[in-house]
Amino acid sequence: MKTDNITPLKNPVFVTRSSMPSFKEYCDEIKGIWESHHLTNMGPKHNRLVQKLSEYLNIPSVSLYANGHLALENMLEAYKVSGEVITTPFTFVSTTNALVRKGLKPVFCDIKKDDYTIDPSKIEALITEKTSAILAVHVYGHVCDDQAISDIAQKYDLKVFYDAAHAFGVLKKGVSVAALGDCSMFSFHATKVFNTIEGGALCCRESSMLGAFDAFKNFGLDADKEYSEMGGNAKMSEFHAAMGLCNLRHLDEEIEKRKKVFERYADGLGNTEGIKLCFPGEGITHNYAYMPVLFTGAFNRDKVFDSLQKLNIFARKYFYPLTSDTEWYKINVPERKHTPIAAFVADNILCLPMYSELSSDEIDIIINAVLRSAE
Ligand SMILES: *Cc1c(COP(=O)(O)O)cnc(C)c1O
Repeated sequence: MKTDNITPLKNPVFVTRSSMPSFKEYCDEIKGIWESHHLTNMGPKHNRLVQKLSEYLNIPSVSLYANGHLALENMLEAYKVSGEVITTPFTFVSTTNALVRKGLKPVFCDIKKDDYTIDPSKIEALITEKTSAILAVHVYGHVCDDQAISDIAQKYDLKVFYDAAHAFGVLKKGVSVAALGDCSMFSFHATKVFNTIEGGALCCRESSMLGAFDAFKNFGLDADKEYSEMGGNAKMSEFHAAMGLCNLRHLDEEIEKRKKVFERYADGLGNTEGIKLCFPGEGITHNYAYMPVLFTGAFNRDKVFDSLQKLNIFARKYFYPLTSDTEWYKINVPERKHTPIAAFVADNILCLPMYSELSSDEIDIIINAVLRSAE
């Protein structure tokens, strides 16, 4: 490995960098709050963000949340999901933690080699009389095989939920992924393509569920001012909504810049034996949320990670370990299924730095360091 003659970067490069509006834009946005004294509880900023997101996603039902994880938990409550839920181990722990915390049993299904989303051909074998739903993840913004999933769900009368935390702004044939399945969760965490600092949303086509979503996040209080559900508190504040209103104005530009970063990486790494990148599938408008690279052959994921780290560049072993292989699941879900493809991907994948402000020089340094790590 000949990385010693390359000097480490003076300023560290992390795997992601939160997008922010200018200080002035945010200050202008929050100014009105000092007149209204309306800080939270579905105020004007919150309501404007609901409307803007509903337009952006072209979906009638949008309910905002304090974060994506609580949105997931409320989704499971609102649909009264019970028993077993078939899901993927190749995701952030939040997905399956939500299931377990709501008293459900996660049943781990293997993923597809090409895009790392749940493999529909392996779902049917996992269905029992206790199965009530499928919780799939558009991992890295890669759209799941929604048609195959929906066919299985119809056959066995299961609900279909999407953890779309990575997929804000992703379109399939011009339609937002928010329209897929019974319901989708988006995360607006600081590290996501679109952020409200902390935040999230539930989205679905069926407006009949909106009342339940709104009640569950506000102590169960329904539109008739009755406490009709066993709710908690997961409301989005005005300051978070204001950040969202600002960031949404720049989102298309943000994704366009990320696309340029992706293309530069793809030019530098795309035709190398032992390096697998994921390109957007046909009919997909991608959001370039992450830069996952699968290393095999002459490349070793951990070695690539270490050579980057020596240069002050911090990639992430994302997702490693599999959710099913984390300490809690090893102890508490001992009968979990073997998912060989997910295990292979978790052992060999690395997310390289990906954000709109990543400079061409920095990308080139990363590409060179990756290529040299195989020497
Ligand atoms: C970020 C993330 C979540 C949780 O979202 P928060 O807004 O951070 O609570 C859930 N699932 C996946 C796949 C995520 O990446």
